[in-house]
Amino acid sequence: MTIEAFREEVRGWLHDHCPDAARGPGSPVTIGSKRPISDELLAWRHAFGGRGWSVPSWPKEYGGGGLSPEEITVLNEELQAIKARVPMGGMGTSMIGPTLLEYGSEEQKKRHIPKIALGDVSWCQGYSEPGAGSDLAGLQTRMVDKGDYYEVNGQKIWTSGANFADWIFTLVRTDPEAPKHDGISFILIDMDQPGITVKPIQLISGTSPFCETFFDNAIAQKDELVGELNRGWTVGKRLLQHERSGLGGLRGAAPQRRRGRPRNGMADLARRYLGEDKSGRIAEPAARDKVVRFAMDQASFTATTRRAREESSSAQTPGETTSIFKYYGAQMARESAEFQTYLMGTQGHGWEGPGFEPHEIGANRGFLSSRAVTIYGGTNEIQMNIIAKRVLGLPD
Ligand SMILES: Cc1cc2nc3c(=O)[nH]c(=O)nc-3n(C[C@H](O)[C@H](O)[C@H](O)COP(=O)(O)OP(=O)(O)OC[C@H]3O[C@@H](n4cnc5c(N)ncnc54)[C@H](O)[C@@H]3O)c2cc1C
Repeated sequence: MTIEAFREEVRGWLHDHCPDAARGPGSPVTIGSKRPISDELLAWRHAFGGRGWSVPSWPKEYGGGGLSPEEITVLNEELQAIKARVPMGGMGTSMIGPTLLEYGSEEQKKRHIPKIALGDVSWCQGYSEPGAGSDLAGLQTRMVDKGDYYEVNGQKIWTSGANFADWIFTLVRTDPEAPKHDGISFILIDMDQPGITVKPIQLISGTSPFCETFFDNAIAQKDELVGELNRGWTVGKRLLQHERSGLGGLRGAAPQRRRGRPRNGMADLARRYLGEDKSGRIAEPAARDKVVRFAMDQASFTATTRRAREESSSAQTPGETTSIFKYYGAQMARESAEFQTYLMGTQGHGWEGPGFEPHEIGANRGFLSSRAVTIYGGTNEIQMNIIAKRVLGLPD
Protein backbone atom coordinates (compact mmCIF):
# COMPACT_ATOMS: atom_id res chain seq x y z
CA MET A 1 0.00 0.00 0.00
CA THR A 2 1.35 3.47 -0.80
CA ILE A 3 1.77 5.92 2.05
CA GLU A 4 -0.99 8.12 0.60
CA ALA A 5 -3.37 5.12 0.46
CA PHE A 6 -2.47 4.38 4.07
CA ARG A 7 -3.27 7.99 5.01
CA GLU A 8 -6.69 7.68 3.36
CA GLU A 9 -7.34 4.44 5.23
CA VAL A 10 -6.37 5.98 8.59
CA ARG A 11 -8.48 9.08 7.93
CA GLY A 12 -11.54 7.00 7.00
CA TRP A 13 -11.10 4.66 9.95
CA LEU A 14 -10.77 7.55 12.42
CA HIS A 15 -13.84 9.22 10.89
CA ASP A 16 -15.82 6.03 11.54
CA HIS A 17 -14.43 5.07 14.96
CA CYS A 18 -13.18 8.11 16.90
CA PRO A 19 -16.15 9.54 18.85
CA ASP A 20 -16.56 13.29 19.50
CA ALA A 21 -16.03 12.48 23.19
CA ALA A 22 -12.40 11.58 22.35
CA ARG A 23 -11.68 14.73 20.30
CA GLY A 24 -10.29 17.99 21.68
CA PRO A 25 -9.83 18.78 25.36
CA GLY A 26 -11.67 16.50 27.78
CA SER A 27 -11.23 13.70 30.23
CA PRO A 28 -8.31 11.39 29.46
CA VAL A 29 -8.87 8.01 27.87
CA THR A 30 -7.76 6.03 30.89
CA ILE A 31 -6.12 2.62 30.83
CA GLY A 32 -6.28 -0.34 33.20
CA SER A 33 -9.20 -1.79 35.11
CA LYS A 34 -9.28 0.58 38.09
CA ARG A 35 -9.68 4.10 36.71
CA PRO A 36 -13.19 5.22 35.71
CA ILE A 37 -13.99 5.39 31.99
CA SER A 38 -17.24 5.97 30.07
CA ASP A 39 -18.65 3.22 27.81
CA GLU A 40 -17.99 5.42 24.77
CA LEU A 41 -14.31 5.98 25.61
CA LEU A 42 -13.89 2.30 26.48
CA ALA A 43 -15.26 1.35 23.06
CA TRP A 44 -12.80 3.82 21.45
CA ARG A 45 -9.91 2.43 23.50
CA HIS A 46 -10.72 -1.10 22.42
CA ALA A 47 -11.21 -0.16 18.77
CA PHE A 48 -7.94 1.81 18.64
CA GLY A 49 -5.98 -0.75 20.67
CA GLY A 50 -7.59 -3.64 18.77
CA ARG A 51 -6.18 -2.15 15.57
CA GLY A 52 -2.74 -2.25 17.23
CA TRP A 53 -2.37 1.53 16.86
CA SER A 54 -1.80 2.20 20.57
CA VAL A 55 1.56 0.42 20.06
CA PRO A 56 2.02 1.02 16.35
CA SER A 57 5.62 -0.21 16.02
CA TRP A 58 5.13 -3.50 17.92
CA PRO A 59 4.75 -6.79 16.04
CA LYS A 60 1.24 -7.69 14.87
CA GLU A 61 1.46 -11.19 16.35
CA TYR A 62 1.32 -9.71 19.88
CA GLY A 63 -1.40 -7.17 19.12
CA GLY A 64 0.83 -4.34 17.87
CA GLY A 65 0.31 -2.34 14.69
CA GLY A 66 3.37 -3.59 12.79
CA LEU A 67 3.62 -0.15 11.16
CA SER A 68 6.71 1.34 9.51
CA PRO A 69 8.19 4.64 10.86
CA GLU A 70 6.61 6.51 7.90
CA GLU A 71 3.20 4.97 8.62
CA ILE A 72 3.51 5.89 12.31
CA THR A 73 4.22 9.50 11.36
CA VAL A 74 1.10 9.51 9.16
CA LEU A 75 -0.99 7.95 11.95
CA ASN A 76 0.20 10.63 14.39
CA GLU A 77 -0.47 13.43 11.91
CA GLU A 78 -4.03 12.21 11.32
CA LEU A 79 -4.65 11.85 15.06
CA GLN A 80 -3.36 15.37 15.64
CA ALA A 81 -5.47 16.73 12.77
CA ILE A 82 -8.69 15.71 14.56
CA LYS A 83 -7.21 16.41 18.02
CA ALA A 84 -7.90 12.82 19.06
CA ARG A 85 -7.23 11.82 22.63
CA VAL A 86 -5.74 8.36 22.42
CA PRO A 87 -5.38 5.59 24.97
CA MET A 88 -1.61 5.43 24.64
CA GLY A 89 1.00 5.74 27.28
CA GLY A 90 1.53 4.40 30.75
CA MET A 91 4.30 2.12 31.89
CA GLY A 92 2.87 -0.77 29.88
CA THR A 93 3.63 0.81 26.54
CA SER A 94 6.70 2.81 27.54
CA MET A 95 8.57 0.40 29.83
CA ILE A 96 7.48 -3.17 30.44
CA GLY A 97 6.09 -3.82 26.94
CA PRO A 98 9.35 -3.07 25.07
CA THR A 99 11.30 -4.94 27.77
CA LEU A 100 9.14 -8.06 27.43
CA LEU A 101 9.50 -7.90 23.65
CA GLU A 102 13.28 -8.15 24.17
CA TYR A 103 13.57 -10.40 27.24
CA GLY A 104 10.19 -12.06 27.85
CA SER A 105 9.43 -15.71 27.09
CA GLU A 106 7.02 -16.46 24.24
CA GLU A 107 4.28 -17.25 26.81
CA GLN A 108 4.91 -13.99 28.69
CA LYS A 109 4.67 -11.99 25.47
CA LYS A 110 1.41 -13.71 24.50
CA ARG A 111 -0.01 -13.29 28.02
CA HIS A 112 0.84 -9.64 28.64
CA ILE A 113 1.50 -7.72 25.43
CA PRO A 114 -2.00 -7.92 23.85
CA LYS A 115 -3.58 -6.61 27.09
CA ILE A 116 -1.12 -3.69 27.10
CA ALA A 117 -2.04 -2.93 23.47
CA LEU A 118 -5.76 -2.88 24.37
CA GLY A 119 -5.13 -0.67 27.40
CA ASP A 120 -6.85 -3.21 29.66
CA VAL A 121 -4.04 -3.43 32.17
CA SER A 122 -2.18 -0.71 34.05
CA TRP A 123 1.40 -1.34 35.23
CA CYS A 124 3.58 0.21 37.90
CA GLN A 125 7.30 0.10 38.59
CA GLY A 126 8.61 -1.40 41.84
CA TYR A 127 12.26 -0.41 41.78
CA SER A 128 13.06 2.21 44.46
CA GLU A 129 13.14 1.32 48.15
CA PRO A 130 13.61 3.52 51.23
CA GLY A 131 17.31 2.54 51.23
CA ALA A 132 17.84 2.06 47.48
CA GLY A 133 17.23 4.87 44.98
CA SER A 134 20.31 5.95 43.05
CA ASP A 135 22.05 2.91 44.49
CA LEU A 136 19.29 0.70 43.11
CA ALA A 137 21.36 -2.49 43.26
CA GLY A 138 21.31 -2.11 47.06
CA LEU A 139 17.64 -3.19 47.11
CA GLN A 140 16.53 -5.52 49.89
CA THR A 141 13.04 -6.76 49.00
CA ARG A 142 13.39 -10.55 49.22
CA MET A 143 11.92 -13.21 47.00
CA VAL A 144 12.21 -16.86 48.04
CA ASP A 145 11.33 -20.07 46.28
CA LYS A 146 8.36 -21.83 47.90
CA GLY A 147 8.17 -24.74 45.51
CA ASP A 148 5.11 -24.00 43.36
CA TYR A 149 5.44 -20.23 43.70
CA TYR A 150 7.69 -17.42 44.98
CA GLU A 151 7.06 -15.45 48.16
CA VAL A 152 7.94 -11.74 48.31
CA ASN A 153 8.56 -9.60 51.41
CA GLY A 154 9.77 -6.02 51.66
CA GLN A 155 8.91 -2.45 50.73
CA LYS A 156 9.06 -0.29 47.62
CA ILE A 157 8.60 3.49 47.59
CA TRP A 158 7.72 6.25 45.10
CA THR A 159 5.73 3.64 43.13
CA SER A 160 3.92 5.88 40.61
CA GLY A 161 0.33 4.87 39.96
CA ALA A 162 0.47 1.84 42.28
CA ASN A 163 -2.99 2.72 43.64
CA PHE A 164 -4.47 2.19 40.15
CA ALA A 165 -2.15 -0.55 38.91
CA ASP A 166 -3.23 -4.09 38.03
CA TRP A 167 0.35 -5.42 37.83
CA ILE A 168 3.79 -4.42 39.06
CA PHE A 169 7.16 -5.20 37.47
CA THR A 170 9.74 -5.30 40.18
CA LEU A 171 13.35 -6.02 41.11
CA VAL A 172 13.83 -8.35 44.08
CA ARG A 173 16.79 -9.91 45.85
CA THR A 174 16.93 -13.65 45.32
CA ASP A 175 20.51 -14.38 46.42
CA PRO A 176 21.65 -12.28 49.41
CA GLU A 177 25.07 -13.98 49.41
CA ALA A 178 25.99 -13.02 45.82
CA PRO A 179 27.72 -9.73 44.88
CA LYS A 180 24.91 -7.17 44.88
CA HIS A 181 24.30 -6.94 41.11
CA ASP A 182 24.28 -10.73 40.76
CA GLY A 183 21.61 -11.66 43.30
CA ILE A 184 18.72 -9.70 41.77
CA SER A 185 15.76 -11.04 39.76
CA PHE A 186 13.08 -9.34 37.67
CA ILE A 187 9.52 -10.50 38.37
CA LEU A 188 5.97 -9.56 37.33
CA ILE A 189 3.42 -9.61 40.16
CA ASP A 190 -0.38 -9.35 40.20
CA MET A 191 -1.32 -6.41 42.46
CA ASP A 192 -4.72 -7.82 43.39
CA GLN A 193 -3.82 -9.99 46.35
CA PRO A 194 -3.90 -9.70 50.16
CA GLY A 195 -0.07 -9.71 50.37
CA ILE A 196 0.22 -6.26 48.73
CA THR A 197 -0.72 -2.97 50.44
CA VAL A 198 -0.48 0.44 48.79
CA LYS A 199 -0.36 3.82 50.56
CA PRO A 200 -0.46 7.03 48.47
CA ILE A 201 2.06 9.83 49.20
CA GLN A 202 1.10 13.48 48.60
CA LEU A 203 3.33 15.68 46.42
CA ILE A 204 3.99 19.41 46.92
CA SER A 205 1.83 20.12 43.83
CA GLY A 206 -1.24 18.79 45.64
CA THR A 207 -1.64 15.45 43.86
CA SER A 208 -0.77 11.91 44.97
CA PRO A 209 0.78 10.32 41.92
CA PHE A 210 2.88 7.83 43.80
CA CYS A 211 2.80 5.43 46.73
CA GLU A 212 4.53 3.22 49.21
CA THR A 213 4.05 -0.45 48.26
CA PHE A 214 4.36 -3.15 50.91
CA PHE A 215 4.85 -6.87 50.21
CA ASP A 216 3.87 -9.15 53.11
CA ASN A 217 4.13 -12.78 52.01
CA ALA A 218 2.97 -11.68 48.56
CA ILE A 219 2.77 -14.40 45.94
CA ALA A 220 4.51 -14.31 42.56
CA GLN A 221 3.95 -17.02 39.97
CA LYS A 222 7.07 -18.82 38.78
CA ASP A 223 6.30 -18.30 35.10
CA GLU A 224 6.35 -14.52 35.67
CA LEU A 225 10.12 -14.43 36.19
CA VAL A 226 11.61 -12.44 33.29
CA GLY A 227 15.00 -13.78 32.21
CA GLU A 228 16.95 -16.04 34.52
CA LEU A 229 16.88 -16.18 38.32
CA ASN A 230 19.59 -13.85 39.75
CA ARG A 231 20.15 -12.30 36.31
CA GLY A 232 17.48 -9.60 36.61
CA TRP A 233 19.88 -6.65 36.74
CA THR A 234 20.44 -6.77 32.97
CA VAL A 235 16.68 -6.79 32.33
CA GLY A 236 16.11 -4.05 34.90
CA LYS A 237 18.79 -1.79 33.37
CA ARG A 238 17.36 -2.19 29.88
CA LEU A 239 13.93 -1.22 31.19
CA LEU A 240 15.48 1.95 32.65
CA GLN A 241 16.81 2.81 29.19
CA HIS A 242 13.28 2.48 27.78
CA GLU A 243 11.99 4.70 30.61
CA ARG A 244 14.67 7.34 30.01
CA SER A 245 14.09 7.19 26.30
CA GLY A 246 10.45 8.20 26.93
CA LEU A 247 11.38 10.92 29.40
CA GLY A 248 14.05 12.25 27.02
CA GLY A 249 11.62 12.59 24.09
CA LEU A 250 13.02 9.69 22.03
CA ARG A 251 9.88 7.59 22.19
CA GLY A 252 6.36 8.23 20.94
CA ALA A 253 5.07 10.52 18.27
CA ALA A 254 7.73 12.01 16.03
CA PRO A 255 7.30 15.77 15.98
CA GLN A 256 5.67 16.94 12.78
CA ARG A 257 7.69 18.81 10.19
CA ARG A 258 5.94 22.16 10.04
CA ARG A 259 5.74 24.64 7.25
CA GLY A 260 6.22 28.35 7.99
CA ARG A 261 7.15 29.93 11.28
CA PRO A 262 6.31 27.75 14.31
CA ARG A 263 4.14 29.31 17.01
CA ASN A 264 6.12 30.13 20.13
CA GLY A 265 3.96 29.68 23.26
CA MET A 266 6.62 31.16 25.52
CA ALA A 267 6.79 34.35 23.39
CA ASP A 268 2.99 34.67 23.52
CA LEU A 269 3.12 34.35 27.30
CA ALA A 270 5.92 36.93 27.59
CA ARG A 271 4.00 39.43 25.43
CA ARG A 272 0.85 38.94 27.46
CA TYR A 273 2.47 39.45 30.88
CA LEU A 274 5.38 41.81 30.11
CA GLY A 275 3.88 43.79 27.22
CA GLU A 276 5.57 44.95 23.99
CA ASP A 277 7.94 47.79 23.16
CA LYS A 278 7.33 50.29 20.34
CA SER A 279 8.66 47.85 17.73
CA GLY A 280 6.30 45.07 18.88
CA ARG A 281 9.02 43.09 20.64
CA ILE A 282 8.74 41.58 24.13
CA ALA A 283 9.24 44.61 26.36
CA GLU A 284 11.88 43.21 28.73
CA PRO A 285 15.23 42.59 26.91
CA ALA A 286 16.43 39.88 29.35
CA ALA A 287 13.17 37.94 28.95
CA ARG A 288 13.36 38.41 25.18
CA ASP A 289 16.83 36.81 25.11
CA LYS A 290 15.64 33.91 27.22
CA VAL A 291 12.57 33.28 25.05
CA VAL A 292 14.85 33.10 22.00
CA ARG A 293 17.28 30.79 23.80
CA PHE A 294 14.44 28.44 24.79
CA ALA A 295 13.15 28.38 21.22
CA MET A 296 16.61 27.59 19.83
CA ASP A 297 17.32 24.92 22.46
CA GLN A 298 13.94 23.32 21.83
CA ALA A 299 14.49 23.28 18.07
CA SER A 300 18.00 21.78 18.42
CA PHE A 301 16.82 19.19 20.93
CA THR A 302 13.90 18.18 18.71
CA ALA A 303 16.24 17.80 15.72
CA THR A 304 18.74 15.78 17.78
CA THR A 305 16.08 13.43 19.17
CA ARG A 306 14.77 12.94 15.62
CA ARG A 307 18.27 12.03 14.42
CA ALA A 308 18.87 9.64 17.33
CA ARG A 309 15.49 8.02 16.75
CA GLU A 310 16.19 7.54 13.06
CA GLU A 311 19.69 6.17 13.73
CA SER A 312 18.57 3.76 16.46
CA SER A 313 17.78 0.28 15.23
CA SER A 314 16.33 -0.87 18.54
CA ALA A 315 12.79 0.36 18.98
CA GLN A 316 13.56 4.05 19.55
CA THR A 317 15.73 3.28 22.56
CA PRO A 318 19.47 3.55 22.07
CA GLY A 319 21.75 2.14 24.80
CA GLU A 320 23.66 4.21 27.33
CA THR A 321 23.38 7.39 25.21
CA THR A 322 19.71 7.51 26.25
CA SER A 323 20.99 9.17 29.44
CA ILE A 324 22.03 12.26 27.45
CA PHE A 325 18.43 12.77 26.34
CA LYS A 326 16.97 12.10 29.78
CA TYR A 327 19.43 14.60 31.30
CA TYR A 328 18.89 17.40 28.81
CA GLY A 329 15.13 16.89 28.39
CA ALA A 330 14.61 17.00 32.17
CA GLN A 331 16.78 20.09 32.52
CA MET A 332 14.85 21.90 29.81
CA ALA A 333 11.44 20.90 31.21
CA ARG A 334 12.44 22.22 34.62
CA GLU A 335 13.86 25.51 33.37
CA SER A 336 10.91 26.19 31.10
CA ALA A 337 8.36 25.57 33.90
CA GLU A 338 10.34 27.96 36.12
CA PHE A 339 10.55 30.63 33.43
CA GLN A 340 6.80 30.48 32.78
CA THR A 341 6.02 31.32 36.39
CA TYR A 342 8.66 34.10 36.25
CA LEU A 343 6.91 35.64 33.23
CA MET A 344 3.57 35.60 35.06
CA GLY A 345 4.99 37.43 38.09
CA THR A 346 2.79 37.16 41.17
CA GLN A 347 0.04 35.66 38.97
CA GLY A 348 2.31 32.65 38.50
CA HIS A 349 2.23 31.81 42.18
CA GLY A 350 -1.50 31.19 42.67
CA TRP A 351 -2.75 28.04 44.33
CA GLU A 352 -6.52 28.52 44.09
CA GLY A 353 -9.23 31.19 44.25
CA PRO A 354 -10.88 33.75 41.95
CA GLY A 355 -7.78 35.98 41.63
CA PHE A 356 -6.09 33.46 39.31
CA GLU A 357 -6.94 32.04 35.92
CA PRO A 358 -6.83 28.23 35.54
CA HIS A 359 -3.68 28.38 33.37
CA GLU A 360 -1.93 30.45 36.08
CA ILE A 361 -2.75 27.90 38.77
CA GLY A 362 -1.72 25.17 36.31
CA ALA A 363 1.62 26.91 35.71
CA ASN A 364 2.37 27.09 39.43
CA ARG A 365 1.47 23.45 40.02
CA GLY A 366 3.41 22.53 36.89
CA PHE A 367 6.42 24.41 38.26
CA LEU A 368 6.21 22.48 41.55
CA SER A 369 5.81 19.13 39.75
CA SER A 370 8.69 19.96 37.42
CA ARG A 371 11.14 19.82 40.33
CA ALA A 372 10.73 16.03 40.14
CA VAL A 373 11.72 15.53 36.50
CA THR A 374 15.43 15.66 37.28
CA ILE A 375 14.86 12.97 39.95
CA TYR A 376 12.56 10.26 38.56
CA GLY A 377 13.91 7.73 36.10
CA GLY A 378 17.28 8.23 37.81
CA THR A 379 18.55 11.65 38.94
CA ASN A 380 20.48 13.98 36.65
CA GLU A 381 23.64 13.37 38.70
CA ILE A 382 23.28 9.64 38.00
CA GLN A 383 22.74 10.34 34.28
CA MET A 384 25.98 12.37 34.30
CA ASN A 385 27.79 9.45 35.93
CA ILE A 386 26.49 7.10 33.20
CA ILE A 387 27.42 9.54 30.43
CA ALA A 388 30.93 9.99 31.91
CA LYS A 389 31.61 6.29 32.39
CA ARG A 390 29.64 4.47 29.70
CA VAL A 391 29.42 7.01 26.89
CA LEU A 392 32.64 9.01 27.23
CA GLY A 393 34.64 6.13 28.74
CA LEU A 394 36.13 8.23 31.54
CA PRO A 395 37.75 6.32 34.40
CA ASP A 396 35.72 5.44 37.54
C1 LIG B 1 7.72 11.97 40.90
C2 LIG B 1 8.54 10.73 41.11
C3 LIG B 1 8.06 9.52 40.62
C4 LIG B 1 8.79 8.34 40.85
N1 LIG B 1 8.28 7.15 40.41
C5 LIG B 1 8.91 6.00 40.68
C6 LIG B 1 8.33 4.74 40.34
O1 LIG B 1 7.25 4.67 39.74
N2 LIG B 1 8.99 3.61 40.68
C7 LIG B 1 10.18 3.63 41.32
O2 LIG B 1 10.74 2.55 41.57
N3 LIG B 1 10.77 4.81 41.67
C8 LIG B 1 10.15 5.99 41.37
N4 LIG B 1 10.72 7.20 41.75
C9 LIG B 1 11.96 7.18 42.51
C10 LIG B 1 13.18 7.67 41.78
O3 LIG B 1 13.63 6.73 40.85
C11 LIG B 1 14.23 7.98 42.86
O4 LIG B 1 13.75 9.06 43.61
C12 LIG B 1 15.57 8.32 42.27
O5 LIG B 1 16.15 7.20 41.66
C13 LIG B 1 16.55 8.87 43.34
O6 LIG B 1 16.61 8.03 44.43
P1 LIG B 1 16.41 8.60 45.93
O7 LIG B 1 15.13 9.40 45.94
O8 LIG B 1 16.52 7.47 46.86
O9 LIG B 1 17.59 9.64 46.15
P2 LIG B 1 19.08 9.28 46.57
O10 LIG B 1 19.56 8.12 45.78
O11 LIG B 1 19.14 9.18 48.07
O12 LIG B 1 19.85 10.57 46.08
C14 LIG B 1 19.89 11.79 46.85
C15 LIG B 1 20.78 12.77 46.11
O13 LIG B 1 22.14 12.23 46.05
C16 LIG B 1 22.59 12.20 44.70
N5 LIG B 1 23.42 11.02 44.48
C17 LIG B 1 23.19 9.76 44.95
N6 LIG B 1 24.15 8.91 44.52
C18 LIG B 1 25.01 9.65 43.77
C19 LIG B 1 26.21 9.33 43.05
N7 LIG B 1 26.70 8.09 42.99
N8 LIG B 1 26.81 10.34 42.35
C20 LIG B 1 26.31 11.61 42.38
N9 LIG B 1 25.19 11.96 43.07
C21 LIG B 1 24.54 10.99 43.74
C22 LIG B 1 21.32 12.12 43.86
O14 LIG B 1 21.54 12.60 42.54
C23 LIG B 1 20.36 13.00 44.66
O15 LIG B 1 20.57 14.35 44.34
C24 LIG B 1 10.03 8.39 41.52
C25 LIG B 1 10.52 9.62 41.99
C26 LIG B 1 9.79 10.78 41.80
C27 LIG B 1 10.33 12.08 42.31
